[in-house]
Amino acid sequence: ISGLCKRYRRNSSLVVDHVGFELGNGEILALLGPSGCGKTTTLRMIAGFEQPEAGDIYLDGRRINALSPQQRHIGIVFQDYALFPHMNLAQNVAFAMPHRPKAERAAKAREWLDLVGLADLASRMPDELSGGQQQRVALARTLAAEPRLILLDEPFSNLDAALRETTRKEVRQMLKAAGTSVILVTHDQAEALSFADRIGVMHGGRLVQVGAPEQVYQQPANAFVAEFLGHTN
Ligand code: ATP
Repeated sequence: ISGLCKRYRRNSSLVVDHVGFELGNGEILALLGPSGCGKTTTLRMIAGFEQPEAGDIYLDGRRINALSPQQRHIGIVFQDYALFPHMNLAQNVAFAMPHRPKAERAAKAREWLDLVGLADLASRMPDELSGGQQQRVALARTLAAEPRLILLDEPFSNLDAALRETTRKEVRQMLKAAGTSVILVTHDQAEALSFADRIGVMHGGRLVQVGAPEQVYQQPANAFVAEFLGHTN
């Protein structure tokens, strides 16, 4: 991603200001920053829901700016991770595989549910699950579409603190097992530090530092990063 810019109103200031970074194959990158710093807008441009006013987005070396969200083959899990309420879990996951022959979908859905530890509940309806379990099904459904890249927007924010930590750990393992590249958006420092391979800290629309968690934590690029990461020196 290079030089990505966005403003919502003409003559207003940029809400995303020349954001650029590279994401490695199978890498998990967290975009971390306070409310309103432009994280979600950046994610929406990558997904194709918003057009940047400047900048380029490449996937596997191919510029994808002009592609529709569907053509980009990017999986997205938002905060509310809505499942289809009238379908059981297996049907929810099978729905994400229109590219597979119908006869294969049920077995494949079971495999994905197995990966998230919920194969036993395949015939349950979404409202019979806990929030954390629904979260894992939403992830299984996204993984089942076998996207090149997954975007996660505050995916754990609806879970209580105890559930959040275990779900986070499990989801990280799942993503690593599937080898998918991931961009996660969060305002939670602990989440970024424990979940991501690298962290990009955003402030006022700008990406102010990108680095490994320990590097960003131990060598903050400026006073904002130091304070935001709770550095006490
Ligand atoms: P949060 O963590 O609160 O979701 P964020 O870092 O994801 O914040 P964005 O949602 O990208 O930030 O918003 C960046 C800025 O753009 C904010 O000032 C916001 O008010 C503004 N903004 C976002 N969406 C729109 C919109 N559709 N129309 C006008 N302004 C918008």
